[in-house]
Amino acid sequence: QQEHDEIRKKYTILVEGENIPPPIKHFRDMKFPTPILDYLKSCGIRRPTPIQVQGLPVALSGRDMIGIAFTGSGKTLAFSLPLVMLALEMEMKLPLVKGEGPVGMIVCPSRELARQTFESICKMIDFTTRGGFPKINPLLCIGGISMSDQSRVFSNGLHIVVATPGRLQDMLSKKKFNLDLCKFLCLDEADRMIDMGFEDDVRNIMSYFTGQRQTLLYSATMPKKIQDFARSALVKPVIVNVGRAGA
Ligand code: ADP
Ligand code: MG
Repeated sequence: QQEHDEIRKKYTILVEGENIPPPIKHFRDMKFPTPILDYLKSCGIRRPTPIQVQGLPVALSGRDMIGIAFTGSGKTLAFSLPLVMLALEMEMKLPLVKGEGPVGMIVCPSRELARQTFESICKMIDFTTRGGFPKINPLLCIGGISMSDQSRVFSNGLHIVVATPGRLQDMLSKKKFNLDLCKFLCLDEADRMIDMGFEDDVRNIMSYFTGQRQTLLYSATMPKKIQDFARSALVKPVIVNVGRAGA
C-alpha cells in the first residue's frame, strides 16, 4: 500500500475512490500479450506515462473512472488498450456473429480526434491479429462519411465503435447497430464535448445501453458541469488526476 502511494507520488498522481487498483511501473506489470508489447515498441513507447501508470490498471479492472490529465499525456492509449483487450477477451470466449456488437465505444468531440483514435486502434489490432489473436472489427462513425459506408456489416460482428456524438446518435436511432452487447463506454475530452453542447446527445446515447457497462470519462478540466454529469453517469468511479490541478 505504501509502495503504491510512493509510485503515485513520484508520478504526481492523485487518486480518489474506494479500493483503487495498484499503479504499474512498467507495461510488463500488466502481463499484456506479446503483440501488444510489440505494438508499443513500434510506437517508440517504452514506459507508461503518469495517466497510464494509474489509468491502465483502473480501466483493466473494469471500474468506472474519471481521468483528468492535460493534452499530450497519453490518454488515448490509457483507454484504447483496455478496450482492445476487452474486445479480444470477449471474442475468445464467445465470438460475435454477423449483426452483433459493438462491445465497446469511444465518443469524441471532433471528427479529427475520432479519426486519430480510430487509426491508433487499427494499428494495435493489426499487431494482435498478426500475432494470432481473433480478428477485431472497429468502425469509425463520424459525420462527413456516407452513412452506408459506416453501416458496413462485418461477417463476424462489429467490436469497437469510435464516434462523434451526432453521427452515433443518428446511427443508433436508425438501428444500424444496437448496444445490447456493449459493455464499455469512453467519453474522451468530455469537457470539450459538453462545451460544444453535446451533453444531451451523450445522455441519449447512454440510454441505448441495455446491460451493465463500464464508463470512463476523460477530461482536461473538471468544472462543476462535468462533475455533475459524471455523478449521474458513473458508478463508484476511481478518480485519477495527473498534474497540477491539485483538486
Ligand atoms: P492526449 O490524448 O493525452 O492528449 P495522446 O494519447 O494523443 O495524448 O498522446 C500524445 C502522444 O504521446 C502520441 O503521439 C502518443 O503516441 C505518445 N505516447 C503515448 N503514450 C506514450 C508513452 N507511454 N511513452 C511515449 N509516448 C507516448
Ligand atoms: Mg486525447
